Amino acid sequence: MKSIVLPYGEAGWKEKLRLLEDLLASRPLGSFIYNDILVLVPSSRMKRIYGRLFLEFAERRGAAALVQPDVQTLHQFLQGLYRRLSGPALMDENSRLVLLEGIVKERLSRASSFKLSPDLLAPSLSSALAKMIEQLSGAGVGTADLARTIEGSDFSDKPQVELLIAVYGNYEQALRESGLTDPAGMRQYLSTHFDPAWLQQYDRIVMDGMQDTGVLEAGILKNIVGCADCLCLVDAPSAAMVKQAPEDHPLRIVKDALDKVGLLLEEGPSAGEEQLFLSRALFSDRPFSVTAEQAPPAASFSKRINALSAINTREEVTFIAAEVKRALRKGIHADSVLVAFPALDEYGPLVEEIFMDYGIPYNRALGRQLSTSPVATAVVSLLRSCQEDFSGPSLLRIFGSPFLKFAAQRALAPALDRLMRHKRIVGGKEKLLAGLKFSRPDERGADLLTGPLNDLFTALEPFSTGETLPLTGWMKRLDDLLAWSGLAGMVAEVHGPLNINLQAYKKLVDTLGALKRAGELFPRYTYTFNEWLFLLKKTFMHTRFQVPPEDEGGVQILGLEESMGHAWAEIYLGGLVDGKFPQRLPQNIFLPERTLEAMGVRTLDRARLNAAYHFYRLLLSADKVTLTWPENEGDRPVVPSPFLAELTPLRTAGLLNRGVEKTSGIQFSLKLEDCHSVPELAKAVSLAGEVAGLDLIQDADIKGLSGIKEALGHQAAEAAPIPPQKKREFWVTELDAYLNCPYDYYVANILGIEPLEEVTEDISPQDRGSKAHAILRNFYLAWNRPVTREARAEARALLRTLADSAFGQEADTVRNRRGKEQFITIMAERFLDSEEEFWKQGMKPAYLEQKIERFPLVLSNGEKVELSAKIDRIDVDENGNFIIVDYKTGKYPLPKTGVEQDIFQLPVYAVMAQQALTGKGPALKNPIGLAYYDLSGKTGAGARDVVLYNSEAEKNHPSSKPKASPKSAEEFHGILSQSINKARKAVESILASAFTSIPRDASKCRYCVNEMMCDKESMQG
Ligand code: SF4
Repeated sequence: MKSIVLPYGEAGWKEKLRLLEDLLASRPLGSFIYNDILVLVPSSRMKRIYGRLFLEFAERRGAAALVQPDVQTLHQFLQGLYRRLSGPALMDENSRLVLLEGIVKERLSRASSFKLSPDLLAPSLSSALAKMIEQLSGAGVGTADLARTIEGSDFSDKPQVELLIAVYGNYEQALRESGLTDPAGMRQYLSTHFDPAWLQQYDRIVMDGMQDTGVLEAGILKNIVGCADCLCLVDAPSAAMVKQAPEDHPLRIVKDALDKVGLLLEEGPSAGEEQLFLSRALFSDRPFSVTAEQAPPAASFSKRINALSAINTREEVTFIAAEVKRALRKGIHADSVLVAFPALDEYGPLVEEIFMDYGIPYNRALGRQLSTSPVATAVVSLLRSCQEDFSGPSLLRIFGSPFLKFAAQRALAPALDRLMRHKRIVGGKEKLLAGLKFSRPDERGADLLTGPLNDLFTALEPFSTGETLPLTGWMKRLDDLLAWSGLAGMVAEVHGPLNINLQAYKKLVDTLGALKRAGELFPRYTYTFNEWLFLLKKTFMHTRFQVPPEDEGGVQILGLEESMGHAWAEIYLGGLVDGKFPQRLPQNIFLPERTLEAMGVRTLDRARLNAAYHFYRLLLSADKVTLTWPENEGDRPVVPSPFLAELTPLRTAGLLNRGVEKTSGIQFSLKLEDCHSVPELAKAVSLAGEVAGLDLIQDADIKGLSGIKEALGHQAAEAAPIPPQKKREFWVTELDAYLNCPYDYYVANILGIEPLEEVTEDISPQDRGSKAHAILRNFYLAWNRPVTREARAEARALLRTLADSAFGQEADTVRNRRGKEQFITIMAERFLDSEEEFWKQGMKPAYLEQKIERFPLVLSNGEKVELSAKIDRIDVDENGNFIIVDYKTGKYPLPKTGVEQDIFQLPVYAVMAQQALTGKGPALKNPIGLAYYDLSGKTGAGARDVVLYNSEAEKNHPSSKPKASPKSAEEFHGILSQSINKARKAVESILASAFTSIPRDASKCRYCVNEMMCDKESMQG
């Protein structure tokens, strides 16, 4: 038995090859029969790597034929051993879930402690229980051990604990009665019945990458190494570091695995000075400053480590693609570049799209979730449309699917879309049929839709009956539905054995077959339609299908586990977002963590350590490592992974981001010379105007360029001059929109063109904002006293009542519920925090949603126009000092130093209020501040953000920009009068029809709906 430590990266890889070559070459000359060597690896990918290595070896030796060593994943090997024994039959994962779900439901319907209907509880509870039971049995803990451990504890009589013990007991009993076992049972059986004769066919056993094995697997491996000639390869910087790894160090999982198997490590080749320094610097228990002091000088440090953030996920992947393309152009071999993501399922499609645009040869890891395939989506869409009473989006998915029987009728989806928009119907069988009686959505007046809709409704009738059926009953109905849908025929038209949809379809058929078998195994459990659909979707989500590549060459786009066992020249590790890396796992609801830990179940800890191990390993595995994360996901800012803090000593020592100018807010360049793909070129060309030499590129026979050529040749019709405007009344908000971008204002306010919105029952973000405004106005209409700590609970209850009534009028959708929840848990609490402080300042909200109309504004030519405004709130003190307040649920402009500001509406309001409201309520003598209420927490500070104030009148205002917000009295009044001048100029420009495409902030153009129409003059400069 020999176990050797190999350093990460090139040195370790070379040594591994040498050891394997020595092993193979030890045979007599000319003999290439190696099936007496067993190689155990953790993944199918490593299995293929080994296969290739052996072939290359044989080729180098001039062998015409080779009997390969027996390379297996540990799981395959154990299953193979078990098949030869006479233990109980191994149950598949689907049957396990079906059994547990049935037991949970049966149990809940008898238990009085769970008030909710078992139909609602069972699907989610059974998943959680299945996980818990898997973890317990994986750690070798049976029901009897569990009951013994928790006996006498203060939680042993909790309903969820009793449920766990009862379900686990029933589960074990059901397995015994049906003569079945689960994967943990199989391992247990192998461990207790281990026989050295199982291995007698092997002369030598090689184990590679076996860290993080479970208790039962480790037991079996221990037996194997005890009776066979084994060579164990362990990746780590050094044997000493593994042996001394403290409790929370990434190498701890390697140490624990080796200890469990009983392996003693031998030192392999040295890792080199830089790798040793890095391996000690990362996850060290010494202070960062001490580690930084011990760093080598930057000039002599050859390794490149970058940590960079892009503004969003797309820009992050675009940045990685550009870097990879640069590396390939420099001659780096594509196979030696790794692009890895902790959440590859989320990133995969985007990476493929951008890499394809960039013309980068790539190979993506083979496993994909079945639920994401268009084939499975088509099946689920059919069933969901029934569950959602034929909602518009679900019907559009069905009519738009290329895999269902309506695929050839392309006019159906647009006709349905028109019908729903025209009639403002969001779906519903009866509503749609009634709508069709009075409307013919297609142009010629024919009725395209009634036939297909009725056909669909009839096919889905068996799923709308509200019956409770055994699993086999639902599966039979699904078979009939699939036969009606024509799915098999549509997929058969897809050619090529490696086609992704064909592979997904095969897996779908296998999975449905497995569910049928599970139903036959456990016929006593029954399901409502919703429960069954939940089970089906859950099964599709857990099932992965493989797309065999034609070859595995190119840049490797992999998950973390799959990136092991290879030497890399460059590594790009993206998606480093807190919550995803390390993945935030839900807290266990059944047993306290300390109890689980005592039984050897350390799921949360283990998952974190595992993620840390891969982060550590990848940082040490290549000469150039680039770590990236997006700053925002959708409209949500994200927090970078906490592991990035480990780079602090490198940053301090000047070893991080060397030679990189921009380390955050990265966006792809829109300059012509920076383009890496045809879509980027198209955008750049649209901005660049006439460019010398572009003809040459257009004439090159490159896919996609014909579109650009066509577009450039297109002569736009001469634009007719816009006549002067005759408007005389203006809202301050529209003047602000004009100042933001005159052309955008022209499209929205003069032409009156709005983006086409999806017909939905979800309230829009604007409506959600209006509701928040109305609730806060109504709060102070009902609450006419200070908000204090003592009265907080009462104030909170009032806000909740108001929120119930405001959101209660809306449809009960997930988004609407989330909108209300966000208001109650975040906005209302932030608001109350600020109000408690605000009332201590001697001010009170005196005007609420105050309208000011027909405020006269004299233009430079002496003409008069009228301004209107609605001010959310004006706070006043007893001396007539006042602050203009604007509630915000989204972003707002921030203050700048000096008098010139982007903040426009609030100072105009202050001037209007002072003049127009005199004598109409509490006196407004002196404007002293302008405040936004940042309700959703965009700035990270408190809600009340007094963005500009006269610091000579009052100093202690809360502000997110404490340097830019305070102004001298002179500056503050200068801002007010300047804003009125801006309003005047904006009105004059609108009247003169000056609608240039010059936005105040050019970065907004990227997300502007008018981007395709406007000239974007500002960006051409
Ligand atoms: S793309 Fe930019 S310049 Fe054009 S309308 Fe939109 S914001 Fe204005």
